[in-house]
Amino acid sequence: MATETWGQLKSLEGSKLEILDAEFTREVSKIIGGQDLTACFQCAKCSGGCPVSDKVNVQVHQLMRMLLFGLEEVLKTDMVWLCTTCYQCQQRCPQGINITDIIFGLKNMAFRKGINPPGYVASRKALYDSGKLYEPTDWERDDLGLGPVPPLDVAETRKVLDKTGLMKLREGE
Ligand code: SF4
Ligand code: SF4
Repeated sequence: MATETWGQLKSLEGSKLEILDAEFTREVSKIIGGQDLTACFQCAKCSGGCPVSDKVNVQVHQLMRMLLFGLEEVLKTDMVWLCTTCYQCQQRCPQGINITDIIFGLKNMAFRKGINPPGYVASRKALYDSGKLYEPTDWERDDLGLGPVPPLDVAETRKVLDKTGLMKLREGE
């Protein structure tokens, strides 16, 4: 799947959804929190506290239902990728479902299947190449009374990233 823009991950409108793919639900049930999918009774308390609810097309309670129905298209929704991992939903869930952990797992699953927004791929490269996700400038540091940006040895960062296998994951196709 080509993932050129965030927009492509946004809407499932017009897609023909394959329903009840039990194999996908089984796969999800193996990630942390995934074993509690059936406990969700769709109260939507999770969505009510989600800070990105006005930015996504699929709300987090809908995502939970999609997982139970085995809709693999869920991996292409922006809910998975715009989740800030704030844990609000997890805190609010009356059923104690580890929703944020499930979303973490979905991100990993999506990346392994080659579904990922370009911004993530660029961040991964920046982290590997420079050890930083953001390049502070000398003038910004100057404003804070700090000296020039010190050089950074990225060897340790790369060692950690190599161990996680992050760089081996393929980009979206
Ligand atoms: S708060 Fe929990 S039970 Fe309610 S919809 Fe969300 S996941 Fe389901
Ligand atoms: S952890 Fe993600 S899905 Fe849950 S409330 Fe925060 S942003 Fe929304």
